[in-house]
Amino acid sequence: MEKGIRITVDGPAGAGKSTAAKAIARRLGYLYIDTGAMYRALTLKALRCGPDLPDEQALGRLAADTEVRLAGPERPDGPYRVLLDGEEVTEAIRSPQVNAAVSQVARVPAVREGLVRQQREMARNGRVVMDGRDAGTNVLPDAEVKFYLTASFDTRVARRHQELRRGGFDVSREAVEKDIAQRDEIDSNRTVSPLRRAPGAIEVDSSDLTINQMIERMLEVCRRATDARGPAPGAR
Ligand code: C5P
Repeated sequence: MEKGIRITVDGPAGAGKSTAAKAIARRLGYLYIDTGAMYRALTLKALRCGPDLPDEQALGRLAADTEVRLAGPERPDGPYRVLLDGEEVTEAIRSPQVNAAVSQVARVPAVREGLVRQQREMARNGRVVMDGRDAGTNVLPDAEVKFYLTASFDTRVARRHQELRRGGFDVSREAVEKDIAQRDEIDSNRTVSPLRRAPGAIEVDSSDLTINQMIERMLEVCRRATDARGPAPGAR
């Protein structure tokens, strides 16, 4: 078996990160780590505490007291599962309510500290594809391959709108526009680990690419990086 590498995929909402990261992980036989799902699960728990989000201190305590686990799909074409304190919340974390609150939760330093520690632990043995906002800049800054995915605002809104409707949520395009613009603003301007292209990250603009073109382009980069590392010690 070849040694394997760590791959990070960052970018704004709707740029195609999770589709690309999952496909790459599947093709290479790597572990897929959806860091956004972890912030979403914690946000769901916070929203269940009451009508208003708890203050920063309480969010920090909540994060310390919460276990978010990412599990592989139950069937080959099934979704990656997210477990919040043991409860499956795979679908619940994609709701418009979580969309609207997640960036407020993710900007809290104590929340990030706890989740980033777990993310690094999950990536300890390499052979991972991690998607998020700060995977390449902060969680795994020495990853062998880093991508920064972008797409035009319209493309990103259209994708998210379609995704939500497919998931059974009846939301207007205007509401999705507002949500994405707000998250872009908070994610890019927060003090701790704002959304940035990591040094050395390869930028891929997916606006005019099909999903397959984007994935093939990214896989080619990963294969070159894997070949450059050669076989693992002791492997034939
Ligand atoms: O990737 P996804 O859209 O599911 O992420 C949801 C939110 O979680 C983002 O808008 C961002 O506020 C937060 N996030 C983050 N850092 C990450 C991943 C996600 O702050 N590494």
